Amino acid sequence: MSDYLVKGYAYDGTVRIYAAITTKLVDHAREIHQLWPTATQALGRTLTAGVIQGSFYAEDQQITIRIDGGGPLGKILVDADAHGHVRGYVQNSHVNLIYDEGDKAGSSAVGQAVGTNGFLQVTKDLKIRDFFTSTAALQTGEIAEDFTYYFAASEQIPSAVGLGVVVDTDNTVKVAGGFILQIMPGCKKESLDRIEQLIEEMEPLNRLLLAGKMPEDIVEYLSDMSWDPLYTLPLAFECNCSRERFRSGLATLPEADLVEMMDDEITTTECQFCRSTYTFTPTDLETIIEERTQKGS
Ligand SMILES: [Zn+2]
Repeated sequence: MSDYLVKGYAYDGTVRIYAAITTKLVDHAREIHQLWPTATQALGRTLTAGVIQGSFYAEDQQITIRIDGGGPLGKILVDADAHGHVRGYVQNSHVNLIYDEGDKAGSSAVGQAVGTNGFLQVTKDLKIRDFFTSTAALQTGEIAEDFTYYFAASEQIPSAVGLGVVVDTDNTVKVAGGFILQIMPGCKKESLDRIEQLIEEMEPLNRLLLAGKMPEDIVEYLSDMSWDPLYTLPLAFECNCSRERFRSGLATLPEADLVEMMDDEITTTECQFCRSTYTFTPTDLETIIEERTQKGS
């Protein structure tokens, strides 16, 4: 089954609910980045939140999410567009931490691995003049709580965020998905109370996903069984890197650096997001230098 997202309105149009299944794209990230289970959890949750948040926007608008909590995973970076495409990586892929005590004993210690001494930052490229960046302090490092806090503190939108990634015994992704529910102005007190109650009584998302619940089921539950579907969007891990982009990147380097690279038979550049590699020969590098000299720069 392919990954997709569902968007619906509920409570007389005063609440919007997004729910997504992201198993394939999270497992793709695990595979290309060789992620260990806690890294899969952390990046998987961020990719899921990112691809849902990306769908809030339109046309060629894009967002970049940075999470840096000072934990062993290092930075997490996720890019998403408005069309269900997402890409991302975590600085240290080989992290596996398990909580050994408390009510989370035995489960992946995502909060510990991310750390809480830092921030969640969203940069929006809305294709109008400048970028917009907003930042919120990390709350637990468990990602869902951090997004909930981010939406409330930085965007003034009361929200509920649920993110779930279940890693199988062979370290592949068994299921992944999530939801974001947002309260808009005009939402009645009785609706708010009902939503609060539903979220409180909701089974853990991991369990719902394992039981085969689909995005429609999650929206239906959160809407108290009455919602208007708005659209369905296919989701995928996709990177827009190209050899040409890396070539332009090389062209910004000081000439001395390029000359030094020409000592190597082949210069290999790697995309951090998708691990694609692009190679350049000394002749390629010489051409880059020549082109630049001709431009008079
Ligand atoms: Zn790439």
